[in-house]
Amino acid sequence: MADLPDDVNISLPDTPRAAVEQLIALDTTSRDGNVPAIELLQRWLSDHGVITHVLREDDGINANLIGVFPSRHQAGGADGGQESVGALLPERALTPSDQLSRDLIGELSGVGKGGVDRLDSPTDGATSANPSADGATSSADAAEAPAAGERRGVLIAGHADCVPVDGQDWDSDPFTATERDGLLYGRGTCDMKSYLAVFAQMAGRFQAADLDEPVIFAATWEEETTCNGARELVKQLDALGIHPRVAFVGEPTMMTAIASHKSMNSFQATFHGIAAHSSLLPRGLNAIRYAGEFITWYHREVIDRLVEEGPSDDAFPVPHTTGGVNVVDAGIAGNTVPDHAHLTFEFRALPSVDVPAVVRDIQAKIDELDTAMKAAVPDDPADPSAAKKVGAQLTINSLLYPLDAAPDGPAATLAKTLGRDVQAEKVTYGTESGIYEHAGMSAVVIGPGDIAQAHGANEFVSLDQLAACEDFFAALLTHLETAQ
Ligand SMILES: [Zn+2]
Repeated sequence: MADLPDDVNISLPDTPRAAVEQLIALDTTSRDGNVPAIELLQRWLSDHGVITHVLREDDGINANLIGVFPSRHQAGGADGGQESVGALLPERALTPSDQLSRDLIGELSGVGKGGVDRLDSPTDGATSANPSADGATSSADAAEAPAAGERRGVLIAGHADCVPVDGQDWDSDPFTATERDGLLYGRGTCDMKSYLAVFAQMAGRFQAADLDEPVIFAATWEEETTCNGARELVKQLDALGIHPRVAFVGEPTMMTAIASHKSMNSFQATFHGIAAHSSLLPRGLNAIRYAGEFITWYHREVIDRLVEEGPSDDAFPVPHTTGGVNVVDAGIAGNTVPDHAHLTFEFRALPSVDVPAVVRDIQAKIDELDTAMKAAVPDDPADPSAAKKVGAQLTINSLLYPLDAAPDGPAATLAKTLGRDVQAEKVTYGTESGIYEHAGMSAVVIGPGDIAQAHGANEFVSLDQLAACEDFFAALLTHLETAQ
């Protein structure tokens, strides 16, 4: 368990920058889990008396944190006021120390593992509850989600994991936030611990405020690899009776609101053949041959078709869908019939592309090749045990929803009210925001720093961007205090 190390400074930071520095000091590379950052954020919130939920993932290294700042309508009266706060009410009776111990023990999510978005989409568009999104909405999900008019609250969401620093040449220690020329360097400064740290540092102000609408703070796991933390978060919020109206997802956008990005869909295909000395070809089965067939088909029939015949939108820097087979791992020697080929491939589609239909086509092609390989197994294979495993399989690594928010939708409108611009250009990188949009929230991406600095060596966020982020949250606080 990668819990908070003993030597970590867990004191309440008195400035947003100090909060960022404390969070950067924790190495929460996705493969090692995000628990140290979750615990630190939880302690800050808890020390301000904020209701928190730490929902540990059963992998033991990850957790989601939910912090709830109730509205004035929830705070008053035993009946829970005018809004349903569901399971939150019993929590309010706990003392801070009860809550703290319970949170640190953690509650395992009882709602199952996250996974791939929208595989069980209805084939009949007429049954889709939200056909405008992309025609691929899961009717089961959508039917359970409250209607927009019944939703209350603003979700401040971000991921607490970060990408590795392996092999990167940093000018200073990536886990020691270091200022040079008004820029704060460190892994996660821009993607995206600053957003979480700045809000958490302001938690006391939100807790003390008389809010017209609840604010929900959420820090998730594994955004950089699977986005499964966000998928779990949606279920966890639902189980807690929390249904936010708006989601602000703090990926780096230079504090302008971004309302649209492509879907990200990644896969692996494995082809098992039969190894043999290459001079004994008839007793082997060449896995690369079938993988090669797939590679050509995928580029011609999926990617090229989507480029030529699919939707196009000039608001994206690359206006069409993109994709390709990007990793091939196959074979062992020039004189050996290869018994394996592993492919890693992806496509990034415009929001209007019917992703499940594309996935079904890919699966059908893999099934066709699987059948062909099994039919080609020789009568006297060089390796009889390998002959039993011959075939092709598809693994879906991730299908991440696109974001397709209306520029005049609730999230973009609120961002404008808070003084931020809504960017006309759309972006090609993926975020968790599409998951929140699909769950019924109006979502935009808005956070400090520039995506150009994410993931590389010498990642930084400018102190100006930290200030802009603080201003944004302060504007939200003022807005929610004065709104009636
Ligand atoms: Zn990120």
